Amino acid sequence: MLSFLSVCGLILLALATAALQRWIQNRKSVPVPVSVNYHLTRKCNYECGFCFHTAKTSYILPLENAKHGLALLRKAGMQKLNFAGGEPMLYPGFVGELAKYCKDGLGLESVSIVTNGSLIKPKFFASYGKYIDIIAVSCDSFNEETNVQIGRGKGSHLEKLEELRKMCRKERVKFKLNTVVGKYNFQEDMNETITRLDPFRWKCFQVLVVAGENDSDKTLRNATRFTITDKEYQQFCDKHSHNKCFVPEPNNIMKDSYLILDEYMRFLDKGNNPSKSILEVGVDSALKAVFWDEKSFVERGGIYDWTKEGNRNPETNLDW
Ligand code: SF4
Repeated sequence: MLSFLSVCGLILLALATAALQRWIQNRKSVPVPVSVNYHLTRKCNYECGFCFHTAKTSYILPLENAKHGLALLRKAGMQKLNFAGGEPMLYPGFVGELAKYCKDGLGLESVSIVTNGSLIKPKFFASYGKYIDIIAVSCDSFNEETNVQIGRGKGSHLEKLEELRKMCRKERVKFKLNTVVGKYNFQEDMNETITRLDPFRWKCFQVLVVAGENDSDKTLRNATRFTITDKEYQQFCDKHSHNKCFVPEPNNIMKDSYLILDEYMRFLDKGNNPSKSILEVGVDSALKAVFWDEKSFVERGGIYDWTKEGNRNPETNLDW
């Protein structure tokens, strides 16, 4: 017969095991934020008609708070940080200092910037180029009139694009292109210019409507004027998919596969309420408040050769 003490011991053991199982389960249900898009500002100097991250606020975090948030993300498993906006290069010092911190302070594998390219100066490259792996420039057409029609600048976008490509080559920063495919450009043949520009990656997004951002005349932008059918998008893809840099992103892949932090460092959830700021509740709790489709992130090729030296950290423990 078991003694009273043995029974107590068994009960305690069972309780501890259950608590441990609950803890493990809880850990498993929190995704690892391997690649994060930090939309540090909503302000922009361009007026693209389909923009889905519009200037609803002009807020930007103090530098030290932003650094703290990035350190929290690193601790939670972040390997790549992408600065986006709005136009992040409205704040070159802020972006540059954070890029430096990400590399020197946090040891991130990859730091990238998505930019319209109009504001980057050689001085920025000279000070911060070594901390940046990838610069992705948005360009929707190689016909300047079409860019103007879309709102992508006022007529000098292609000239800026060429300058930036040269700066990237000189500073050995990977040059990437992002194109939004919509009503005004889905019939364009871009093959010749893509061959000449030779980006290491060319992402072609189907124009996306996001509730509360660009879904009607009541929002700051109305992307419904730019939408195309899946068949029209496919037509564009068929014309360009032979380019080895080509990466298609139709609406169904885009919707849930990006981890997006806004200017307050809150995770966004496609027009639903954002999470609380990671500065307030921590990364795990903020992540649990939104839906992020990790599988879709992996399937769309979210993890790729994103370090400029091509040497990924061997300690990275990615099980996909
Ligand atoms: S450049 Fe980007 S952030 Fe600026 S308006 Fe165009 S899509 Fe929006």
